[in-house]
Amino acid sequence: MNCQLCQKKLDAYREGILSDDMRTQVKAHLKLCAECGESYRIQLLADSVVNDEKMIIPDNDLTSRIMARLENSTETGYRNISPFRKVLKPALIITSLAAAIFAGVLIGNIYKPSVRELSQPLELALIDDVAIESVDILSNQ
Ligand SMILES: [Zn+2]
Repeated sequence: MNCQLCQKKLDAYREGILSDDMRTQVKAHLKLCAECGESYRIQLLADSVVNDEKMIIPDNDLTSRIMARLENSTETGYRNISPFRKVLKPALIITSLAAAIFAGVLIGNIYKPSVRELSQPLELALIDDVAIESVDILSNQ
């Protein structure tokens, strides 16, 4: 028996469905070949892990307890938040919004030109100067 044939027959060997002749050949090869023997041991280990997993008995009570707790938490989901937090959060948002608007108005007023500057435009000031100068010129003459 070669390794390739042994690997092919390994599943059937583990399940015990090989003919007597083939079973003895595989068994003999597994004793001689370290590689196939290691592969066989790994497969046996995997089988035992899978069988252990199957042995875990589902806890029916656990499912009902989890479902009951889930229903309870969705029912009282918002009510669990303290009333202090329920009021504080919107109040904090409104306060920060008002502060932002106030700051915006304040900054806008800092850069706004004063009313006095607007009352007399630069052009009018120059016109007045011309008028004063012309009067001076006339008075000198
Ligand atoms: Zn082999």
